[in-house]
Amino acid sequence: MKKINVMDRVYAANEEWAEANRNLLKENGSVMLNLIGSPGAGKTALIEQTIPRVSDFRSPAVIEGDLATSRDADRVRKTGAPAYQINTGSGCHLNARLVNTALLDLYKKGGHDLIFVENVGNLVCPAEFDIGEHAKIAVLSVAEGDDKIEKYPLLFARASALVVTKIDLLAHTDFRTEKVKRDYERLNKRGRTFIVDNLRGDGFDGWIEFLKRL
Ligand code: MG
Ligand code: ZN
Repeated sequence: MKKINVMDRVYAANEEWAEANRNLLKENGSVMLNLIGSPGAGKTALIEQTIPRVSDFRSPAVIEGDLATSRDADRVRKTGAPAYQINTGSGCHLNARLVNTALLDLYKKGGHDLIFVENVGNLVCPAEFDIGEHAKIAVLSVAEGDDKIEKYPLLFARASALVVTKIDLLAHTDFRTEKVKRDYERLNKRGRTFIVDNLRGDGFDGWIEFLKRL
């Protein structure tokens, strides 16, 4: 019983920071997307390919969440977009307070109206912690298998879009794209599915159109 109360307090405190983030984003006219997927799903490569394709209509910035290292932020900065690296130590998800610090730092350096947050690689608790984002985006690679929608329904039910990555590996796996699309759309009637080769940058038109309309 006691443990449940502690978690209730954690969620309540997080919700206050999430609300502060929503206000901050609104003041700055920004849209923030929370990218959630397993380690190795291709989240960073998706961001690297997306930045140059949105830069003519948006001013993007990136918040990177990892337990350790600044490798992903370093990669993203090579696209020319600013990136703020959060290291969570042992933390397996980003919370709204950590994201608040990152947002304030990014806004100090300039105006940004499209913020990508790459959450810690994990299909479980990042889905439970509201960071004040406009939408959650689930990222699932072909290499992970096509049963993940059924196994981790919370994330996929809450994600406004699903990006299936590493489609170039399809011939080497038994991944069924149609099944994944069907499973996702069953959980999330309004969810949009995009299928991309995130390394080479093929198949990005639908995803970029989706971002344009946010
Ligand atoms: Mg990454
Ligand atoms: Zn966690």
